[in-house]
Amino acid sequence: MAHAYELRCRECGKRYDNAPLSICDECFSPLEVQCDLEAARNTFTREAIAKGPSSMWRYQALLPVPDDYVAPTPAGWTPLLRAPRLAERIGASNLYIKNDAVCLPTLSFKDRVVSVALANAQIFGFDTVGCSSTGNLANAVAAQAARLGLKSYILVPSDLEPAKILNTQVYGAKLVRIDGNYDHVNRLCSQIADRYHWGFVNVNLRPYYAEGSKTVGFEIAEQLGWRLPDNVVVPMAGGSLITKIRKAFRELIALGLVEEKEVRFFGAQATGCSPIATAVKTGADHIEPQRPSTIARSLAIGNPADGVYATRCIRESGGWAEDVSDVEIVSAIQELAETEGIFTETAGGVTTAVTARLYAHGRIRQDELTVTCITGNGLKTTDALAGAYELEAPVRPRLSDFETYLEEQNEEQELVFGGVRVS
Ligand SMILES: *Cc1c(COP(=O)(O)O)cnc(C)c1O
Ligand SMILES: [Zn+2]
Repeated sequence: MAHAYELRCRECGKRYDNAPLSICDECFSPLEVQCDLEAARNTFTREAIAKGPSSMWRYQALLPVPDDYVAPTPAGWTPLLRAPRLAERIGASNLYIKNDAVCLPTLSFKDRVVSVALANAQIFGFDTVGCSSTGNLANAVAAQAARLGLKSYILVPSDLEPAKILNTQVYGAKLVRIDGNYDHVNRLCSQIADRYHWGFVNVNLRPYYAEGSKTVGFEIAEQLGWRLPDNVVVPMAGGSLITKIRKAFRELIALGLVEEKEVRFFGAQATGCSPIATAVKTGADHIEPQRPSTIARSLAIGNPADGVYATRCIRESGGWAEDVSDVEIVSAIQELAETEGIFTETAGGVTTAVTARLYAHGRIRQDELTVTCITGNGLKTTDALAGAYELEAPVRPRLSDFETYLEEQNEEQELVFGGVRVS
């Protein structure tokens, strides 16, 4: 092998040299990157990783790029936080948040997958890149393409949140709004990638893109002091992230960086687009496509490319999947912000609400070490909170006016609490 990684068919195992390819020509199943673990045994050690950069590139030895690749954009290495106040609310006692709401450069975990995909776009010689996106991927491709000096075409469903549209255009990307949902957009991108010589990060570069998600799993293990958690709760759109966190844990076990352990995987979706959660709940082994209708637009993929693999990952691990309503999503966004000071987007509302339900239903026991993955930032979906808070009339800048204001507040409180003074 020229490189310490290659492509392999997930079903028939056929091997391919590295190329912008995502489907097996024998059996039409998806291709996956396979890294040569033996080749990485001397470079992928706890000590070497600790000396690496404070970014996802500290795990470069198990990412599909050449050994001498120098990443121009640091993404990842986001905080893993204990979440005691949220834990108390939902009946947990050992809960952590992996906070990719602060992933750089564009505030979602998609920065990780795009870093790896665009490295390969350059290796394959593409001067134009693109993606089909539900929002966060659009932002990440646009920003990183700008930094690499690549042209980008970003195709999105026309009803995307305004902040996600602006956060794509500002980088000089060509934003193409498509009159249809994500699944229409994605089908069109496959046709465009075939016709033009463009690198679409989640179409012809998808196997490379997907490997970037492994770094969420590597980080969780390292930040727990090279241990694996009991449970992980992961939001699902195409269903790739959840499977790659599992792949990361398995690679760490294979290389002896953590002790062997079967981590349970729990998937989170919005009820308005829940093809994977539905398959898990009904025990189906195929995915029934849905027409998405939810405020969690970043998860609104009705026909998920990795749905079957996500379902298998959850089932084999002894986990479960749940879906929550738009009303629950909004409450969970507020609850996470009020308890832990983390403002997440709608996808994080999904994950938080599902996490709460898993404890409530006894699917996760109180004392188990559980990591819930917050994958995007609330500043991108502020429209989800429209009307949630009233704006009071401004107070004049005088102490007496402020005192009057406080008195009025207290009177209101007394009314609310039936005349019982609460101080
Ligand atoms: C894309 C996305 C996901 C899900 O990723 P998949 O790998 O497609 O399942 C989760 N959260 C956010 C915020 C996303 O943008
Ligand atoms: Zn095959």
